[in-house]
Amino acid sequence: MIKANSIKESFLNPAQAVYQRVVAAGDYWMQVIKAGQTLRIVDLEGNQAADTLFYNAQDPAERYSAMDTIREQGNVYLTAGTQLRSNDNRVMLEIVADTCGRHDTLGGACATESNTVRYGLEKKFMHACRDSWMLAVAQHEEFDINKRDITHNINFFMNVPVTAEGGLTFADGLSAPGKYVELKACMDVVALISNCPQLNNPCNAYNPTPIEVLIWD
Ligand SMILES: [Zn+2]
Repeated sequence: MIKANSIKESFLNPAQAVYQRVVAAGDYWMQVIKAGQTLRIVDLEGNQAADTLFYNAQDPAERYSAMDTIREQGNVYLTAGTQLRSNDNRVMLEIVADTCGRHDTLGGACATESNTVRYGLEKKFMHACRDSWMLAVAQHEEFDINKRDITHNINFFMNVPVTAEGGLTFADGLSAPGKYVELKACMDVVALISNCPQLNNPCNAYNPTPIEVLIWD
C-alpha cells in the first residue's frame, strides 16, 4: 500500500530540461511525453489545480483510470511512488518526485454544469476545465481524441480529503509556491492539462494562477 503524503525531492536540473513552458490559468497544455521522459509540473504561485488526463499516444482508447490506480495502490491519494494506471491496468507513468505530498483523483474536473449545481445558476457562463479540454481536443485532431474520451482525471496540487465517514471535502490547498510533482512516462503518452480557471472553490483560494511544465529526456 502506498503511504499518503510522501515527500520526495528531485535532483533534475531545470537548465537541462528539453522543454519548458509557463501555462496561464484558464489555458490548456497538450503534449506527447515519450517513454523514459520525465514531466515536471510546478505550482508556481501555490494552491493551483492542474486538471490532467493521460492517453496512450498510440491508442487513445487506453487512458488514465482513477479506479485502477486507486485499487492497485490501496490508497485514494496520489503521491511519490504512485503508479498511474490505465483502463487496461497498465502503468502509464510513475510519480517519481513530489514536494506537495498529495494530489486528488476523486473530485473530478470543473464543468459549467457542476459550477451551476455547486455555486449558482449565474455561474453557468464561467470558463471551466471541461471547456479547456474540449477546445484542446478540437484544436489537436492529430491525437484522435474525442469528447467521449474525456473521463475521470487527476487534479494535481488539489486537496480533497476523505473524512472518517468516507465523505469528500474540498479543502484549502496543501500546496505552496514552487511545489512540484514529477512523473516518469512508462509508455508514450499524450498529456492534456487544463490549468484550472475556477473562481468559486477554496482549493485555489479563489485565485487561479500559472503553472510551469518541464520535460527531461
Ligand atoms: Zn477546473
